This record gives sequence, C-alpha cells and structure tokens, in this order.
Amino acid sequence: MVYNFNSGPSILPKEVFEEASKAIIDFNGTGLSILEIGHRTTLFQAVMDEAIALTKELMQLDSDHEVLFLHGGASTQFFQVPMNLLNENEVAAYTDTGIWATKAIKEAKQFGHVDIVCSAKDKNYSYLPKDFAVAQTSKYLHLTTNETIGGVQWQDMTPFYEAGVPLVADMSSDILSRKLNFNKFDLIYAGAQKNLGAAGVNLVVVNKNILGKVNRTIPSMLDYRIHIDNGSMLNTPPVFAVYVCMLTLRWLKKNGGVEVMEKLNEEKSALLYNTIDALPLFTPTVAKEDRSKMNVVFIIKEAALEKEFLELCKKENIVGIKGHRTVGGFRASLYNAMPLSSVQVLCDLMKEFAVKKG
Ligand SMILES: *Cc1c(COP(=O)(O)O)cnc(C)c1O
Repeated sequence: MVYNFNSGPSILPKEVFEEASKAIIDFNGTGLSILEIGHRTTLFQAVMDEAIALTKELMQLDSDHEVLFLHGGASTQFFQVPMNLLNENEVAAYTDTGIWATKAIKEAKQFGHVDIVCSAKDKNYSYLPKDFAVAQTSKYLHLTTNETIGGVQWQDMTPFYEAGVPLVADMSSDILSRKLNFNKFDLIYAGAQKNLGAAGVNLVVVNKNILGKVNRTIPSMLDYRIHIDNGSMLNTPPVFAVYVCMLTLRWLKKNGGVEVMEKLNEEKSALLYNTIDALPLFTPTVAKEDRSKMNVVFIIKEAALEKEFLELCKKENIVGIKGHRTVGGFRASLYNAMPLSSVQVLCDLMKEFAVKKG
C-alpha cells in the first residue's frame, strides 16, 4: 500500500480507478472503450448528463446556476473570468492570498482594472487578511477559497456572502470538501485534478444572470454563454476526464456527500495538526485559524533533518509530502479520497522520528 499525499494530480477513490480502467477496455458492456466512442453518442451524452446532474445535486444548486465541464485547467479561468465579466474601464476586486490568487490577478489586469482589497504578501502568505472593504462599484469579488501551496483556507465565508457584489471563487483544491452555500457564488471554477477527478477538465458553475454584460467580442471557445447553449459540447470534450469526474461524483454521493466529507476532512486535518503542534520538532507555517483542511504545510526545526525525514517517508511508502519549492518543508494533502488511517500512518511516523531525534 502506498500512502499518497500528492497535491495534484492526487489521490482518488480506488473504486474510481477500478471502474475507469474497466471502461478503457469495455465501457458498460458495449465492447467499446470509453476512449473510442463519439462524444455525440447517447452513451457519452449519458455520462455528461449524469456528471452535471450529480454536481447540481451535491452542491444543491438553484436553477440560475449552470454547470459546465471545460478545457484548459483552472489557469484558463484566470483569464476567461475577466474576459466574460469585466469591461476595460471597470474594476474587479481581488483578494491576494497566495501564489494562485497572484496568478489570477495578473491575468485579470489584461482585461480591466484590479483592486487588490487585501494582501498577505507581507508575511509570505502565511495567514488570511480579513480586514477588507469592497467598493460596491466592483464588477465582482474574486477569492481563492484554498491556497494549495501556502496551505491557507478561508473558513468563514460570511464577509464574502455579504460583500454585496457578484462573487467569483477558485475552488480548485477544496471543491466539494465542505458545506458551503454554493448558490451565494456567481462563478465557481475548479481544475478537476485535486479533489474531483483526472487532469484535463475544469468544473465551472456559473450564475447565468451575470453573463452577457461586457462589450468585447469573446471567442466562442471562451464564451460561457455559448458553452451553456451547447451543454459543454461545443467541441469534443475531454471525454475520459469528464467520465472520471462523474465516477468520483457518484462515489461522493454514495459516501454521504459534502456533509460527510466535511466531517472526515475535519477529523483528518485535526489529527495531523494536533500531531504537529504536539511535536517540537515540527512547526506549522500557517496562522492557526487559517489552516487549510486540504493542504497541511509544516517545516522541521533543523533543515538537515528534512532530507532524512523524506527518506524515511519514502521507505514507508509515504509519497508526495515534499513541500512546494517556494515554501519548503512538507505539505500533506488530505483530499476527500484520503482515508483517516493513512493520515494516522504519517502521524505515527512523525512521532517515531521525533522521539529518535529528540
Ligand atoms: C492547481 C491549482 C490551479 C491551477 O490549475 P491548473 O488546472 O493546473 O491550471 C489554480 N488554482 C488553484 C487553487 C490550484 O490549486
């Protein structure tokens, strides 16, 4: 058994891998591979329909919210969002909370004005800046709900729900990991490869009422309205990636949905943070109240021990915990598919190592 703490692409439920690999050989007993059926067949249409229906059900979306599966990863949304929502002379409000938010800001500046309403750059993005005011003339307010690299996650959404302007969120690394009032968001995007499925597809949930208000021409492939009209099949969708999302969504529903995931994710992250807090050898890098329940970032007291601990992990089949090069140390990603028992294995090894080095 390998304990996979990779940040993305990352762990998915084993039964999803099993189903998906069967479908590559024989999709639903058709004698055909999922990779060789046309996307306009009723066979694939059923996959797309179910993926959309499950997303609506699990997120409890109202009829104003449309579900799209698009190409290009979350990084395409960094510019597709302002292209569809922001005129050149208008202002969009952005929260500057880490590497991903920074990238979103950079792209938005190509389409209009950006008002950075708060920034945590002063402390290397190790906390969330909660004192911010949003001008009511802002076209929208953008937040990154979970910063995958820095390991900070907005816990209280009230200030966003009450901001008074359309809300846009990058939920790439915590989509469907906890209960949120998803209808309060006017646009949600998430690259699938962290918590939702295989790389190559992007989930976009958009309130159709905010569209059609910019005066630039938008290329068809980047226009949300055209994708809505075409049911995410304007061109060939990434069929296998959509299929894996559908399987993961099915698994999520079968296992109790977002509510149960939230409880599990709380338990897993509490176990790991409590272990880190109890061991003087390890130090968390993020302010306590802003700690991510998806990506746990921590460092070790002496840099020389970092390599030694990583080697020990490797020996014990614990993979993917080396920290991002900009932060250093370690990062353990605890996405929905990660069982509590795997987190326990990591915690036990940390304790054992701390005793040895104590
Ligand atoms: C990984 C990630 C992205 C980028 O996703 P791509 O699909 O690689 O473009 C954007 N935002 C967040 C929060 C991420 O974790």
